[in-house]
Amino acid sequence: LERSDKKAYEEAQKRLKMAEEDRKAMVPELRKKSRREYLAKREREKLEDLEAELADEEVLFGDVELSRHERRELKYKRRVRDLAREYRAAGEQEKLEATNRYHMPKETRGQPARAVDVVEEESGAPGEEQRRWEEARLGAASLKFGARDAAAQEPKYQLVLEEDETIEFVRAAQLQGDEEPSSVPPPSAQAQQKESIQAVRRSLPVFPFREELLAAIASHQVLIIEGETGSGKTTQIPQYLFEEGYTKKGMKIACTQPRRVAAMSVAARVAREMGVKLGNEVGYSIRFEDCTSERTVLRYMTDGMLLREFLSEPDLASYSVVMVDEAHERTLHTDILFGLIKDVARFRPELKVLVASATLDTARFSTFFDDAPVFRIPGRRFPVDIFYTKAPEADYLEACVVSVLQIHVTQPPGDILVFLTGQEEIEAACEMLQDRCRRLGSKIRELLVLPIYANLPSDMQARIFQPTPPGARKVVVATNIAETSLTIEGIIYVLDPGFCKQKSYNPRTGMESLTVTPCSKASANQRAGRAGRVAAGKCFRLYTAWAYQHELEETTVPEIQRTSLGNVVLLLKSLGIHDLMHFDFLDPPPYETLLLALEQLYALGALNHLGELTTSGRKMAELPVDPMLSKMILASEKYSCSEEILTVAAMLSVNNSIFYRPKDKVVHADNARVNFFLPGGDHLVLLNVYTQWAESGYSSQWCYENFVQFRSMRRARDVREQLEGLLERVEVGLTSCQGDYIRVRKAITSGYFYHTARLTRSGYRTVKQQQTVFIHPNSSLFEQQPRWLLYHELVLTTKEFMRQVLEIESSWLLEVAPHYYKAKE
Ligand code: ADP
Ligand code: MG
Repeated sequence: LERSDKKAYEEAQKRLKMAEEDRKAMVPELRKKSRREYLAKREREKLEDLEAELADEEVLFGDVELSRHERRELKYKRRVRDLAREYRAAGEQEKLEATNRYHMPKETRGQPARAVDVVEEESGAPGEEQRRWEEARLGAASLKFGARDAAAQEPKYQLVLEEDETIEFVRAAQLQGDEEPSSVPPPSAQAQQKESIQAVRRSLPVFPFREELLAAIASHQVLIIEGETGSGKTTQIPQYLFEEGYTKKGMKIACTQPRRVAAMSVAARVAREMGVKLGNEVGYSIRFEDCTSERTVLRYMTDGMLLREFLSEPDLASYSVVMVDEAHERTLHTDILFGLIKDVARFRPELKVLVASATLDTARFSTFFDDAPVFRIPGRRFPVDIFYTKAPEADYLEACVVSVLQIHVTQPPGDILVFLTGQEEIEAACEMLQDRCRRLGSKIRELLVLPIYANLPSDMQARIFQPTPPGARKVVVATNIAETSLTIEGIIYVLDPGFCKQKSYNPRTGMESLTVTPCSKASANQRAGRAGRVAAGKCFRLYTAWAYQHELEETTVPEIQRTSLGNVVLLLKSLGIHDLMHFDFLDPPPYETLLLALEQLYALGALNHLGELTTSGRKMAELPVDPMLSKMILASEKYSCSEEILTVAAMLSVNNSIFYRPKDKVVHADNARVNFFLPGGDHLVLLNVYTQWAESGYSSQWCYENFVQFRSMRRARDVREQLEGLLERVEVGLTSCQGDYIRVRKAITSGYFYHTARLTRSGYRTVKQQQTVFIHPNSSLFEQQPRWLLYHELVLTTKEFMRQVLEIESSWLLEVAPHYYKAKE
């Protein structure tokens, strides 16, 4: 090392030591902090927006006579702006945040909510303005839920929950229903069980329209079907088609789902309704898992799987009907399917195309498919009262837990549905809930806590559909999956923190990251709607009415506009679609994103300089994984280490759920994890874990002893087997590196040379884009700080973290990607 480098290096080491200590203290604070930072940032942006808006309005309305309302609005905005400016100038971040808050002083607890604002007025904080605005806008009938609503239960509720453990909600709006609140009582568990499965089928909103629907399908090639979630689109329509004979002569029906869990769960349900074994007439097919057979005529599959079907059967000749379900989700794969299916439909007039969607966006689909008719299934929806919090919640996970208990002890019977962003959060929330219930013991009625997310084993998934036992209450803690894809009967209360996990992509830098972001208004309303399926319901939003109005986007941006396209471009190229700029997109991706995808595929050797698919590109498309991962697998041939690379690839695909850390054994768990560390980095750690597990005879006991998740390992084993089965197709032989890990690391580098970072004086920077990034504190390299490394993915939480990092040497980059990296002269 040069001297200056050495010094920088030592300094970095020192900083890191400190950071590590900080981290230990910080972890519980992390979630709170990111939320606070987010609020502060939002606050800044809001001021900027406001300034811009005012500037516009002042120009526009300078001389125009304004109505009283408009004048008030303008005055209000000016006042907020001035206050915000003042606070900002004074650097009083805390006070600035207060523009967004309603403080509920302790003394007023238990009194009507109206007493609240006295304190605000005294301090002159802008919250009062906001409250007035809000009341004017929403006609807010302030209602302290838990107090007035269930007055009789209040004493009990106060006894059970600590005073400062409750959250204040105000009722501010109602989602209109088309049924009278009291027209149908919530079905009791017994009634549900008694009803035969056929009776349930006949009771679904789609049933009365069966004949009409089939007639419409018969007379139109493309039909858009719109219906409330839970009306029976997904489970019934394919069955109607089956009954109508669309699967005669060996033809199949495909129904696509954006999510794996939905495909699995719905297929299981339909198999049960038809009285067949899953995998016979009805099956599902998702990546790395095929539960279909020769006999399968109703195929539920992820949209990505149907996309891959085009590779083996470009005209979908064995399908009589393709139903693109959950079209409103606008996933990347669904969007691409639209373009391809529209094309196939032109030269296969007998192919029926159904596009099914919740009540969103159907006009756009119709226009896209040359004004195809829209078939509306009238919904069945009860009104839902919407409640907001008075103040933003700094820690929404904690707030969720508190609110669930609050609902449980104060509200009449009915199950609860909570929306969180991912597995980690869901598990944490479930644990916290169970913990508190245990502590409360017999003071509260039984609360069944059930998680649902993508990696949950299917027996656990099925549990959410089981009727709640009498006297108990069920709380389902779900990802977005429960927004429209799955309908759980009996939900009366919805708890919505207002966030979702979203991919975002910066085409300028080519960096993709996964971020927890506020959901859209459309999403929030879909979530609320889940409460009104069986009776009038309530939706508790863990954000303020102001936040809803001003901080949520109207709709979610389609995935195609916020993701990298390497995968899809490779697929389209292998389908012989060369002119991507003119592909029939419902919404085109940003031009730069397309260009960058082409560039990356060129760098990976999948395309030649004319943009044509190379032999290696064709092989890469054969593997159902990201181009970078495919490239890594192909490169293992050259470095004779395919055995190891397959394991790494499989472990990367189940990523982040390998180790677990029970709260009472954190030290043991951490030690166990550290015992797997190998010099070189996380990819080798993953390899090590898998190898030792395999040596144990794939034992679950071994997993238990080593704090490794057995389910994840089992899944990794499945994935590995599938990939191994594909090796022959891509002409890679099975070879082992015999402990020479340099070869493994070089093969990984061959695929991931795009994702490299270098240690500079100011920390890590990505090599090409010079973006500041950090090693994730969970990484085995966190304390080592190698000069050069590659990462598997970037995750933005409090910082831009690299997850799964591997130490590399800069000379390898020249070796594996000479066309991309040049030696410094
Ligand atoms: P849509 O697609 O219109 O949203 P679905 O066909 O998914 O409606 O749902 C129709 C009904 O089937 C709902 O009442 C739902 O509760 C029920 N259902 C769906 N999947 C399952 C399952 N796995 N177990 C039990 N009931 C289910
Ligand atoms: Mg559906």
